[in-house]
Formats: sequence, structure tokens, C-alpha cells
Amino acid sequence: MSVNIKADYNNKNRRRVSGVSTQIMELSWPEIEALDKNMSIVFVTIAPIEEHGRHMPIGVDLMLGEHWRKLAVESLQKKYPSYNYLNLPFMPLAAGSMRGFPGCFYLSPKFLKRNIKALLRSIVSWGFKNVVIIASHGDPFHLIAIEKACDYINHRFDVIAISPMGAMFSSDELGTDLGQSGRVDAMIKEYPNDFHAGWIETSMMLDINKAIVKDYTVCEDVCVTGKEMIFPKKYCAKTAGKGHLGFPRLADHALGKDLNRSSSNYIVNVVERIIKGQSVEDYRHHFLYSTPFFRMLV
Ligand SMILES: [Zn+2]
Repeated sequence: MSVNIKADYNNKNRRRVSGVSTQIMELSWPEIEALDKNMSIVFVTIAPIEEHGRHMPIGVDLMLGEHWRKLAVESLQKKYPSYNYLNLPFMPLAAGSMRGFPGCFYLSPKFLKRNIKALLRSIVSWGFKNVVIIASHGDPFHLIAIEKACDYINHRFDVIAISPMGAMFSSDELGTDLGQSGRVDAMIKEYPNDFHAGWIETSMMLDINKAIVKDYTVCEDVCVTGKEMIFPKKYCAKTAGKGHLGFPRLADHALGKDLNRSSSNYIVNVVERIIKGQSVEDYRHHFLYSTPFFRMLV
């Protein structure tokens, strides 16, 4: 989709363009310049390519983030049609810790943070004031590195850069109601610790594109506790030769639809708060953000 800009570039009082929803890569720089920055939200999905078990492809996290963003923008467009929604291409940049499998690409948390700062600084220099990062990858190092980059940019410039997924993944600890269906809540209660490529992610992928999900019903359960998740060596040893942490065999399409919908609704809620000028403080940080361990390493 291209923007129809009727503005005269020599006229400083030209009307700014709004009501556009597009991939930013399809715009020219004058079109970007003409957008009303007070009425614009920029989205970017930042997640790894990473092994996701024998039954799913390495792009799962990026596909999930892009799907949630797409659903969120569709709903925002209906509610706030006069806003611009600009989507940057997804960036396969991430901190992560699955070892012993081909298909993973990770950066150190500090290097990731530096890169995200540079990206945000550029977006802000284009004139944009609201940037939403969809960091669709549960590793706290990944989430906190991006959150710190956002905090740095917000502190330096008068903008809102936010990466709300860390707070979403911490909904239990932060006491946030994600509005999930009763069935999802019951499954989480019965089969928690479904950390990676388990029933949660597999269900969501069945909803997004079941053609690229292989037979998940034959995957053995890999049980890992929250405590063990602090030690990559421990959980990588448990999942050696498999690649998932949790219970893929319990995945189903309807659960995935519910999970995808609640994730995109969460993003809609955060953006709505930005549009209405309400505080987004509760949505900025993973629950481990303030612990000294992460302060030191990220
Ligand atoms: Zn994942």
C-alpha cells in the first residue's frame, strides 16, 4: 500500500498525513517525512531465529510477534482510523540460550541493547514519538536488554519507546489479568513450566500456520522447573536431542487462537493507553528487571 501524499513539499504549513497503515519499507523518505508524527505508532518485532523442537521451524518467535502485531493493528485501525500504523521489518536480533542445536542466532544481551538503542535513536531522528517493540521471546535477558534500551531513549528524548512483552510474560508475578479464556487458564494451572516450544507455542503456531507444524503428538514431555530455568546447562541437558521444554503433545488449535488473541489484545491495550495519554508504566518491565543479577549482565 502506498501513501497518497497531496502535500506540497515546499509548503512548510502543509497538512500532515494520517490514517495510513503500511510496511514502512514501502514508503519513500518524503512520504515518511509527510506523516503526522503525533498520530503515528511505529511497530517492530524483535525476536530470535531459534530452534523450536523437532516439530516446529526456527522462525516461531518472529512469526508469533508478527501475527500479534498484525491482529493488534487490525483492531487499532478499526478503533482509531485516523492514526498511522507503521511496521518496520522484523529484526532477528536476540539474546538467548538454547545450546546444542543448529538454527539459533544470538547476540550477547549488552550487544543487543546497544543495537536496539541505535535502532530507536534512528527512528526518533525520523521524527516518530511512539515506538512499540514486540519482543516475542520469553528469555529475560532478551526482554530486559530491550527494556533498558527503551528506558535510555525515553530518558534522552521526549518519546515513548516501549517493549511491553516482558510485562506480559510476567503477568503472574505482576498480577496482570491477560483476559485469557478459562480453558487456557486451566491448562496453565495443570501444565505450567511450558517454557519453550511446548503446548503454548505449538498451539499458537497451529492457529497461525498449521502446515509448518510437524507431528507434535509424538513429542515426549520435558519437565523443567522454574528454578532449573536459571541454569542453561541444566535445561539444555534435559532437552538434548529434542529442543522443547514442556508439553507439545497437548497443543491444540483452539487454545492457540485464544492465546494469540489475548496477546494481541494486550498490545492493543498498551497502544490505546499511549493514544489516550494514559500511563504505561505498568507495561514497561519484566518482573526481573530490577534484580542486581540482570542489572549487571544486561
Ligand atoms: Zn519461542
